[in-house]
Amino acid sequence: MTNSKRYADDIFSDIWLPGEVLEIRKEAREFASRELKPISHELNTTVESRDGFRHDVLQAIARAGLYEIPFSTDVGGRGLRYPVLATLTTMEELGYYAPGAASALYDGQAILCGQTLNNASESIRQEFLPKLIRGEIVCCFATSEPETSTDLSAKVMKTTAKRVEGGYVVNGQKRWITNSVAGDIVLLLCKTENSLTMLLVDMHDKGISVSDPDLKMGNHAQLTADIEFSDVFVPEENRIGEEGEGLGVALSALTVGRVGIAALGVGMAQRAFDYSADYISKRMVFGEPIASFQHWQFKYADHAMAIESARNLYQKAAMNHDVGNSSQSLMAMAKVVGSEVAVDMARDAIQACGGYGFARRMSEEGIDWPLEAIYRDSKIGEIYEGANEVQRWAIAREIFGRPITG
Ligand SMILES: Cc1cc2nc3c(=O)[nH]c(=O)nc-3n(C[C@H](O)[C@H](O)[C@H](O)COP(=O)(O)OP(=O)(O)OC[C@H]3O[C@@H](n4cnc5c(N)ncnc54)[C@H](O)[C@@H]3O)c2cc1C
Repeated sequence: MTNSKRYADDIFSDIWLPGEVLEIRKEAREFASRELKPISHELNTTVESRDGFRHDVLQAIARAGLYEIPFSTDVGGRGLRYPVLATLTTMEELGYYAPGAASALYDGQAILCGQTLNNASESIRQEFLPKLIRGEIVCCFATSEPETSTDLSAKVMKTTAKRVEGGYVVNGQKRWITNSVAGDIVLLLCKTENSLTMLLVDMHDKGISVSDPDLKMGNHAQLTADIEFSDVFVPEENRIGEEGEGLGVALSALTVGRVGIAALGVGMAQRAFDYSADYISKRMVFGEPIASFQHWQFKYADHAMAIESARNLYQKAAMNHDVGNSSQSLMAMAKVVGSEVAVDMARDAIQACGGYGFARRMSEEGIDWPLEAIYRDSKIGEIYEGANEVQRWAIAREIFGRPITG
């Protein structure tokens, strides 16, 4: 089956979006159809390996100029008026065919690392952002550790940066670090005295070792691994923000990153919707197409409403951020809704398509099926970049206030 109908084009209207963002959607969709669609099955089903990092995909994104979208012109970016909205629209389009690759090579590279570098000193911005935009460096963003990730407080973090003359010496271990098997730099959250500081660390330092990539349920094109730091010297000028203010630096990137996860969820949900709606319009049971049963008509109507709502919500959160009116609870809402819509849609798409939905490949016919990969890939959206329970907690805080919610 090679369905290519985009139901959202008939149902959803992007008309209120700024013209520059509509153009970016067109550009990103053309790129995804040309570069990602032909290799999407391979990207989404190939098991992780150390030499499995997709330099070719990163280079293709760079060549197409998609890394320019979030940034200002002084570092080689496009200088858009709505850079976050345009970036997340790109995420949705890349995620439609290749969620794991989009998460690693766009959310990780352009959003988490890009936003952090953009908030760094002018010399760091000017040195690293043009290289990132041109696809010359692979970047990692490291906050998680074996024993802590959701809780990023100084009292539990174990990776330390000890002050020495001219800089810091780093020791410790980070876990789950996306892109680390191929990384050139890592933006590292670590403990300095009793607070947290963000440092830019050269991954080629001899005191750094990276484990084999983790073998995960989904997002196979997103290679994660542990990084170990053993007496790694980091010069003072590689600090991002002030000493002790690293958590704020990390959270400002994660806040945008998690709306990126919402956009990715919308992309996955839309792909599962499109593929399965087309299939059940044609597949016959009891002499009728599956879609002739009202059960599935109502389900797909509900999913169309949910996807449209999730898309509107991430776009609203992104646009608010672009106009300087960033709302933590709106961004948290977008993350929860966008990630959950993907899991719900993928589950029902598989159910509606029956055994074919559950298949990766039907060997007799040599036909690849994408839905099982979307189901596997969608699950992590509810967990990473701030588990959905924590997002609900953040929303509840604005409703009830910290004295009640903690
Ligand atoms: C594919 C992938 C890529 C990743 N990439 C990176 C990366 O590049 N850099 C990086 O630093 N990290 C990365 N991570 C780590 C990721 O951010 C963490 O896995 C995530 O933050 C959850 O942390 P944890 O796994 O330690 O779970 P824990 O912190 O142990 O939490 C487990 C569960 O506890 C529940 N929970 C936690 N707090 C609360 C609460 N207050 N109320 C109710 N329930 C709660 C949630 O259900 C949560 O899922 C990645 C992980 C994966 C799987």
